[in-house]
Amino acid sequence: MVGEQYLKVKADVAEMCEQCNRSSEDCTLIAVSKTKPVDMLLEAYEAGCRDFGENKVQELLDKYDKLPADTRWHMIGHLQTNKVKYIVDKVHMIHSVDSLRLAKEISKEAVKKNVSVPVLLEVNVAEEETKYGFRVDELEEALVEIALLPGIKVKGLMTIAPFVENPEDNRVYFSQIKQLSVDISAKNIDNIDMNILSMGMTGDYLVAVSEGAAYVRVGSGIFGNRIYNQKEIV
Ligand SMILES: *Cc1c(COP(=O)(O)O)cnc(C)c1O
Repeated sequence: MVGEQYLKVKADVAEMCEQCNRSSEDCTLIAVSKTKPVDMLLEAYEAGCRDFGENKVQELLDKYDKLPADTRWHMIGHLQTNKVKYIVDKVHMIHSVDSLRLAKEISKEAVKKNVSVPVLLEVNVAEEETKYGFRVDELEEALVEIALLPGIKVKGLMTIAPFVENPEDNRVYFSQIKQLSVDISAKNIDNIDMNILSMGMTGDYLVAVSEGAAYVRVGSGIFGNRIYNQKEIV
């Protein structure tokens, strides 16, 4: 079941890439496995999935040793500074850098462990009250400071688009993020790359692919609906 769904979503991503004259290798499907048991992650792994997204540090750590070593873990949820030290040398990328303070903490812990951590800056492009992330108008100032920090390497931007019935309604936000990345690239800030855009979820990933996503983050579309004991924060 999970393996089939993973392959189906992956094929849909590849087909949309083809329609847009993009190489399917330029868009990676991240299976967002939060709240799901390890058995289900292993099913996705068996089907070829290597990129998994989690939004809680403890859950990521619990699963970390139970999947093969070539698994790439993506931290996609709001990260508290006091937990950075537990994952800084375990994750492939942190998508959810949403403050200068967090970037500084990642830098500090990365230097201690002698690693360089690839990160994306989260942008609250629709300026939703309930969401984390930089506002578009505060991004550049933060970038200039983050660029100077050792042990942290900005690779691009991430966004969580609003919840909408019609995915086309989010096209404007995805294209805004794309344009933002182009504008920042043009400034040639040392130590800042803008090659990666992480955008698109179960409801809108095809629109995101057509607007240039390098990572799409799909959870329920692969693993089925999530059941929460506590209130969902994202
Ligand atoms: C949960 C989550 C997703 C996946 O959501 P689905 O709608 O289930 O695909 C993607 N990105 C982030 C940041 C999430 O927290």
